[in-house]
Amino acid sequence: MKRKILFAFILMSFCVAGIAALQLYYNYATYQEESRRFERSCNDALDEAVDSSFSKHRKIVLGELRAWLHDPSFVKITAKWNSDAKQTVFTIAEVEPSPNGQSKISMSNEDFKEKLDSITPKAKKKLVEHMVSQVDSEFKRGYVWFYTQKIGDSLSKAFYDIPLDLRIIKKQYQASLKEKGISLPFVFNEKQEEASYQTKKVNISLRRPHKKELLYASFVNKDLFLLKELKWILIGSVLLILITLSCFWYTLRLLLTQHKINEIKDDFINNMTHEINTPLTSIAITAEALKKFSHDKQAQEGYIDIILYQSRKLMSLTDEILNSAKLEKSEIELQDTIKVKILLEELVKGMDEKVQLSVSFSENEIFLKGNKNHLTRAISNLVDNAIKYNISDIPTVAISASAENKMLTIAIADNGPGIPDEHKEKIFSQFYRVPSGNIHNVKGYGLGLSYVKKVILAHKGSISVKDNIPEGSLFIIKLPL
Ligand code: ADP
Repeated sequence: MKRKILFAFILMSFCVAGIAALQLYYNYATYQEESRRFERSCNDALDEAVDSSFSKHRKIVLGELRAWLHDPSFVKITAKWNSDAKQTVFTIAEVEPSPNGQSKISMSNEDFKEKLDSITPKAKKKLVEHMVSQVDSEFKRGYVWFYTQKIGDSLSKAFYDIPLDLRIIKKQYQASLKEKGISLPFVFNEKQEEASYQTKKVNISLRRPHKKELLYASFVNKDLFLLKELKWILIGSVLLILITLSCFWYTLRLLLTQHKINEIKDDFINNMTHEINTPLTSIAITAEALKKFSHDKQAQEGYIDIILYQSRKLMSLTDEILNSAKLEKSEIELQDTIKVKILLEELVKGMDEKVQLSVSFSENEIFLKGNKNHLTRAISNLVDNAIKYNISDIPTVAISASAENKMLTIAIADNGPGIPDEHKEKIFSQFYRVPSGNIHNVKGYGLGLSYVKKVILAHKGSISVKDNIPEGSLFIIKLPL
């Protein structure tokens, strides 16, 4: 049995260790994945923020370009049909030509199919939008498109001279991070000792790719943030491990208790066989002697007395076992009105005279509703134990009864060996005996106190045992009146 329990214990330990290890691995992998996702999101958000700021900047400059082209004091736009090329040719000329460089440009537009000899507002608008989109695609590549010197100079000034605003990028970055579920503080372009994550560097120069102005963000509390994100998974895992451990512990305790009960039962059966065998052998030998030999009347009576004594012993033994078994199934009837004083006085009447036995009461008239027979047997068991386990020179047992607040307290104190703390609760279990090695010099089956407890519980009371002072045990019964 012990080997089987050990085997089950080893198997269960492996299982629990396996579950815990898998959980740890799963949590670690989830953390890693979450960390990668965090880094991806931070970098993507930075790209998005820079792109968005860049596009806002382009939009502002393109708005200015549009205004210049529509401004007749800045440029004059004309249109003329070229019959050779079969296209309308537009001319854009500076009103106040720049001293150096090109001040005029002619161009046609493939998409413009109309035949015009002078400019119309609709054609002008179409031409301006075409130019704006050309300039925009060049801006995206980091160039400035020069139509005429003045337009080019003004565009360069507007586009290159005002760099991307870091405050706008920061706001945009915060918004993009929030969209991705990250609300952590960060700083731009600052190398921090305690930084737990730094993004890759993004070029924010408007002249990119020719010039480099790098931007990166540093985050301090990345790990704490990730732990917060994963808190439910972590809590769930810890709970799962705890539940598994408690199940393991519970099952192990159950197995050990079962094992202990089996041992106690084996012990009980061995004890019992011995207890039954001795009187039975004695009866058999005496009966044989009676049958084989003729004895005088006095000797015959002596033999018969032995047979009677041993049969009574057997009967009381079976009674004790039967009583205990009966109590398991049936309910105890609580119909008797018991006068506590009389019950206790009658109980001690026939007891061993070598023992100093005393009974005291706080008052004479205490009445209790209950089962007189069972209660008498139960208290007798306690007094019997107090005497039979007593090894002192002058065995003393003191019984006292008092009533207070509708509660009867009966205390049975002895000056015997007492009961070690670790056995105080267990002695009320069936078949339990305080171990005294393999030798029990006091006979018993471990049934007495379990019977007492059942009777007291049936009366809705309680029983406990304490150390008597200065020595011995003190059993306390409490019964509601
Ligand atoms: P048993 O038939 O063994 O007496 P009980 O259920 O009456 O069974 O008692 C259980 C155990 O409690 C005993 O084996 C004994 O060791 C211990 N015990 C009970 N009463 C006393 C007492 N008054 N003093 C010391 N030990 C006691």
